[in-house]
Amino acid sequence: MKYFTIEELTRSATAERLGIVNTPDVKIIENLTLLTDKLLDPLRELWGGPLRVTSGYRCPALNRAVGGVVNSHHLRGMAADLVTTANTAASHRQLMQRLRESGLRWTQAIMERNRRGATWLHVSYDPASLRGEVLSRMA
Ligand SMILES: [Zn+2]
Repeated sequence: MKYFTIEELTRSATAERLGIVNTPDVKIIENLTLLTDKLLDPLRELWGGPLRVTSGYRCPALNRAVGGVVNSHHLRGMAADLVTTANTAASHRQLMQRLRESGLRWTQAIMERNRRGATWLHVSYDPASLRGEVLSRMA
């Protein structure tokens, strides 16, 4: 863990607003640490500038509240949603490109966009399935 903390990978404005206690257990912390060491930190290093986590671990109540899919890697502490400092679709595409050229391993990398036009890069790391999938979808 170099550039990211467990705190920022579990903090959630939605959880705070709704009074959801989004506290990770030991196994989740282990998964978040692996995600960071294997994927987030090396990607941050390659990117050469700050990356902000907008969503990391989600307990089931939080995942439901944000409309996450039922089998989401966020539930196991294996995924993070990242935005760049510029926070534009173009910079998020660049970040995806950097990842694809990196030689790193990952499970899924998804360019996500919501109805209001906000974009972010969802990345996940499940050591049992490092399939390197690249997708884009409406969230
Ligand atoms: Zn996500």
